[in-house]
Formats: sequence, C-alpha cells, structure tokens
Amino acid sequence: MNKCMSMREDKAPREFRGPKKFIKKGLIIVLTGDGKGKSTSAFGTAFRSLGRGYKVAIVQFIKGNWKTGEERAFKKFKDQCQIWSMGKGFTWETKNFSDDVATAQNAWKKCSEFLHDEHHHLVIFDEINYVIKYNFLDLDTVIRELKKKPAFKHVILTGRDAHRELIHLADLVSEVKCVKHPFNQGILAQPGIEY
Ligand code: ATP
Ligand code: MG
Repeated sequence: MNKCMSMREDKAPREFRGPKKFIKKGLIIVLTGDGKGKSTSAFGTAFRSLGRGYKVAIVQFIKGNWKTGEERAFKKFKDQCQIWSMGKGFTWETKNFSDDVATAQNAWKKCSEFLHDEHHHLVIFDEINYVIKYNFLDLDTVIRELKKKPAFKHVILTGRDAHRELIHLADLVSEVKCVKHPFNQGILAQPGIEY
C-alpha cells in the first residue's frame, strides 16, 4: 500500500503540501488493520457529523451479544442518526454459511438505501470488510453501488483485511496497526472502551 508520505517528508499534517487546486466531494473512507480503533474512529467521525447537524446512518454487520455504548449514545440523537444492526443470529460466532449470506445481503439492502438516499450525509458500514472477506457479500455489488452514490455523501467502511479493490476505490485509507492490546495481557473488555 502507498504510504501517505515518506520519512523525508514527515512533517506535521498542517505543513503537508498537496495539489494546488482542491475540490470538495463525498469521500469513500476505508479503516482497516489489525489494531483496535477502526470502529471507534468511524463512530468519532459520526459524532463530528452529528455536531454539524448532518444526518448519519450506521449499519453494523457484526453485532456482539452486548448492547453497545455507541448504540445507546446514537439513540440520543434519534432525529439525526439511524443505527441498524443485523440483529441476533449474526455474530462473530455464527457457523451456517447460507444463513450468513442471507443475513448479510439483507443488511446490504439497508446499506444500499442509506447509500443512495438524499438525507444521510455520512453512512458507516461497520465490519463490512469482514463479510466481504468471507464471501457473505459480493464485492462487485458493493463496488458498483459505491460508484453510483450521490456525490455529496461520505461513506466509511471498516474491518480488518480490506479488499485491495476497495482500497483502490477509496479516497482515504487508514490502517490501524496493533502495537499492544490489553486482551493479550489478560485484561477483560470493558464498558465504555470496548463496547
Ligand atoms: P473498536 O471497535 O474497539 O474500535 P476495531 O473496530 O478496531 O475495535 P475489530 O476488528 O472490530 O476492531 O474488533 C472488535 C473487537 O476486538 C474490539 O473489542 C477490539 O478491542 C478487539 N480487538 C481489536 N484489535 C484487537 C487485537 N489486536 N487484539 C485483541 N483484540 C482486538
Ligand atoms: Mg470494529
């Protein structure tokens, strides 16, 4: 993957010299890598957009068994924010492939609505990279629809092992690298940090 800048050019972001002419457009953002912080980064951006008065839609492709802090928080912005989870039966632990394909495709229908509507300024497809990687969802369909999204709309796709074609299509790609994770030191997942 291309690095954003070389070591020699390693300046503070404000000093970064890009092209002379800048345009404004809705971004396709991919957040990937093996470190913790992909979903939290997407939710942080959602929070920023909500602060600007924009409408935000979130589809969570993988849902744990617990009620997450982000779900509770976003419900407080119910006029501006829609959060849609694939619901029970599709978690990290599911085993039935055809059920998972059907569930993922059902979730994609919802994504597609949010992607093409005129209301939501930012849409987040959380853990979509995972369902693409395991072929629960067809990559070509996702790419074709992303290319047809309204120009103003920002889309964030999260999850480990983003497909190289999504990376190629995206305007912004960040890879979170795991340096340390508390789980590996025997520290339990904690409310407000993990969920
Ligand atoms: P978060 O939702 O906390 O931002 P994430 O979206 O970057 O995490 P996922 O790949 O979605 O990470 O993983 C979901 C869960 O796995 C999170 O609870 C996270 O803390 C945990 N996790 C993420 N990276 C690691 C890692 N390198 N080692 C162990 N657990 C991890
Ligand atoms: Mg995540």
